[in-house]
Amino acid sequence: QSKQLGKNRCQFYSQDMQEVARLRVQIEAELRVAVERRQFVLYYQPIIDARSGSVNGAEALVRWQHPMRGLVAPDEFIAIAEDTGLILPIGAWVLNEALRQANEWLVQGLPPLRIAVNVSGVQFREQGLLELIAQASRKPGFDRIKLVLEITESVLMQSSDATETLMREIGKLGVNYSLDDFGTGYSSLSYLKRFPVDHVKIDRSFVSDCVDDKSDALLVEAIINMAHSLGLKVTAEGVETDSQREFLRARHCDYIQGYLVSEPLPADEFRILALRYQADNELPAQTPTPW
Ligand code: C2E
Ligand code: MG
Ligand code: MG
Ligand code: MG
Repeated sequence: QSKQLGKNRCQFYSQDMQEVARLRVQIEAELRVAVERRQFVLYYQPIIDARSGSVNGAEALVRWQHPMRGLVAPDEFIAIAEDTGLILPIGAWVLNEALRQANEWLVQGLPPLRIAVNVSGVQFREQGLLELIAQASRKPGFDRIKLVLEITESVLMQSSDATETLMREIGKLGVNYSLDDFGTGYSSLSYLKRFPVDHVKIDRSFVSDCVDDKSDALLVEAIINMAHSLGLKVTAEGVETDSQREFLRARHCDYIQGYLVSEPLPADEFRILALRYQADNELPAQTPTPW
């Protein structure tokens, strides 16, 4: 009897697997069409200075404008895009679109911002990334925009000397690197020393409990201090409450990002928010130095 049960279970499981596989094939096919038809849009989440509250930059976050399902979140398709190589055309579009938008904001009168773009490890294993960014760097406004590539620790973990060289070549074009989701991977200090990273982003999972959970509080504090002693800047991700912001500010976290400030926004709403923040923050640091 137990054998029969096992058999049933097994069959049930394989049907489930079949369903998962079928869905995946469907998403893959739809994603190919999405790339051809450019069914993507970028949302922008403000990153603000923890002390002054002024907008320092924006993180570009991709969404898929699916003809039937509406806006699809990246967690539902980035992994498939990586497995199929479709992340290469999608990633190229994201990079160019984010820079085009940042330049448009400049033309519209926003102060120069840092624009952060998430880059997958798959893109980092392709030499094409250097050429892509080199081309982008010759477009208008690039010298006034600060491009930041957000990479995860897995990029560095799987990296070879070639990755390191590629990172440095891209770095020569004036591009900075930020280590995303910091604390969730191996968080090896040797990565921070070896690679030209100048910024870490503390993962949301630590930030969300930093006020109530003693060990998360200690961890956040330790990451900030360690990063600072290595000469790196720190952004806290997923800041949702005033008490979290206070906690982070008291511990000299440089930047904050999260729903407390704003969700990711369409470009035009981001522009309006950035202008409002600019007006609310008439700080001495922002007035031009007299000569
Ligand atoms: P990420 O780079 O760590 O981006 C932060 C994610 O946290 C975003 O989700 C953002 O909407 C969300 N978030 C921000 N503040 C809060 C908060 O206060 N509370 C909560 N609960 N969530 C917050 P999103 O946009 O769904 O993106 C998810 C992930 O997808 C990103 O994580 C990134 O790893 C990936 N991704 C997004 N766009 C791209 C892209 O253009 N290329 C690549 N390769 N990956 C991307
Ligand atoms: Mg990111
Ligand atoms: Mg992150
Ligand atoms: Mg994440």
